[in-house]
Amino acid sequence: MSTSADAPSRIPHVDYLVLDDGEPHLVAHECASCGARFFDRRNACAACFGTEFTTVPIATRGTVQAFTIVAFAAPGIPVPFVAAVVDCDGTSVKGNIINVDPDPANVATGMSVQLATYSLGTDDNGVEAVGYGFEPAT
Ligand SMILES: [Zn+2]
Repeated sequence: MSTSADAPSRIPHVDYLVLDDGEPHLVAHECASCGARFFDRRNACAACFGTEFTTVPIATRGTVQAFTIVAFAAPGIPVPFVAAVVDCDGTSVKGNIINVDPDPANVATGMSVQLATYSLGTDDNGVEAVGYGFEPAT
């Protein structure tokens, strides 16, 4: 039995994060002509100028391709944090590495990670904004 009826609604912070269809996952727009994938909305493919896209789910596990530990950011953004590019079964996804100390000892290229969501806060109506990152794979 689900008890979610009393829980606040949750809305994804970005429109390519899907929360209400099984496990949380990301989706991309895939060019019908060449298969290039984009997370933002596009009118035409940057690779081939095709204009037809399908929505495809992105693997929730991947490996860290590149990362940087960000020490300076806009006011209000806690630093340091780890910004990374994760190879999710062939699709490059930008995301922060979360649930680890932002220290080079804890993050490495090639390390296995999995998608994780976290709360960005709840508004006055009880609607929770949810963001995503990647955490070390279990
Ligand atoms: Zn294309």
